[in-house]
Amino acid sequence: MMFIKSEEFKILRAIDLIIKKRNGNILTEEEIKYFIKGYVSGEIPDYQMSAMLMAIYFEGMNINETKHLTLEMVKSGNIVDLKKIHGIKVDKHSTGGVGDTTTLALAPMVAALGVPVAKMSGRGLGHTGGTIDKLESIEGYKTELSLERFIEIVKKIGISVINPTANLAPADKKIYALRDVTGTIESIPLIVGSIMSKKIAAGADKIVLDVTTGSGAFMKNFDNSLRLAKIMVEIGTELGKETIAVISNMEEPLGFAIGNSLEVKEAIDILRNKGPEDLRRICLVLGSYMLQLGGVCKTIKEGEKKLISVLKNGLAFRKFKEMVQEHGGNVKMVENTELLPAAKHCMKLKGKEKGYIQKIDSRLVGQSAMILGAGREDKNSKIDLSVGILLRKKVGDSITTNEVLAEIYYNNAKKLEEAKKILLSSFKIGEKKQEKLPLILAAVDKDGIKMFND
Ligand code: URA
Ligand code: CA
Repeated sequence: MMFIKSEEFKILRAIDLIIKKRNGNILTEEEIKYFIKGYVSGEIPDYQMSAMLMAIYFEGMNINETKHLTLEMVKSGNIVDLKKIHGIKVDKHSTGGVGDTTTLALAPMVAALGVPVAKMSGRGLGHTGGTIDKLESIEGYKTELSLERFIEIVKKIGISVINPTANLAPADKKIYALRDVTGTIESIPLIVGSIMSKKIAAGADKIVLDVTTGSGAFMKNFDNSLRLAKIMVEIGTELGKETIAVISNMEEPLGFAIGNSLEVKEAIDILRNKGPEDLRRICLVLGSYMLQLGGVCKTIKEGEKKLISVLKNGLAFRKFKEMVQEHGGNVKMVENTELLPAAKHCMKLKGKEKGYIQKIDSRLVGQSAMILGAGREDKNSKIDLSVGILLRKKVGDSITTNEVLAEIYYNNAKKLEEAKKILLSSFKIGEKKQEKLPLILAAVDKDGIKMFND
């Protein structure tokens, strides 16, 4: 007589798995597979997935569960094959920021030094902007290309940035949309699954992550950001992709510009060896790690030197123009940024107090730009590429009464009042001079944590 363990007969049901997680238990590989597969196919409805996401939000997942979640999300779609592109492909991803134009400047800098950049980027989410929307400010730039054409461009000029095909980790698309409306974004295992599944499916060999921390980030404090960084590095490494995570400050927005065409202009400033110091700094740090992983330099210092050289000699800017050209974009707009979409009106926001800027709440600045039309209210709304905010003051700057805090670029006067109110509330002004915030806090790789103090 043969005995079959009752486990093998167990029928999986979504309700039991929700309760299991709700009670703080560990889900098996099979159970995670069942849930993700069932949700993507439509057998498990949104309301059960919502409950599961909330259970994960409160009870967390261990490293094994997080790994299975990530892998199952990868398997929901295709894995891009980049083998036809020679060299070590290094991808970069940010956990989300405000005014964060890094990719647009960084990708051509790295490509100009011979590391192929075959990058799939996203659109804006919540109060944060997205690279693909920004690129569409350049007239004609095609963000949706076939995989063949994408690979052909990278082979020809060493760089292409596109919107991923629908089939890149479709589980994430569906789950992200649900997290966005169920209060379950700020969960470490869910962020890890979301980002790492997309990175692994996108096919690069190695990964550099920008883990943001502070008011504009999904992780508000350093300890949580460090935990997130460590887990992403561990999962990436375990799945065969060497991964480095840099923890950067998103307490105040990055650079001065927030809004699509304004940020394109700011990225072009960086590529012309100008632009805001903080944005330049993060490009140099993330870029050095990309060069190091790509085998182009041995140390971070050496990487920075190389990156500064391609900013100075114009090769990085030329690489950006080549990319725009290959994507059918209007290169004249890149050469003369006055031609980029511009809002009809500009309002100068003045402060009522004098003293020093203590704080600029990035999330509120992002929300203010969204209200102007720079982001989407829901999935289907159309964005206004021309509107946004230019900060005139940053944390640590002094301010006198009636000095301009920020310029608001807008088209719709009805939206101005609300945007203005929120933007004004994002500034905290006090008597004491506030130290400039450190931009790069730490880097995490498979060997451990390195603290920065710059
Ligand atoms: N960015 C992503 O792609 N996913 C998250 O969960 C958070 C930020
Ligand atoms: Ca910016």
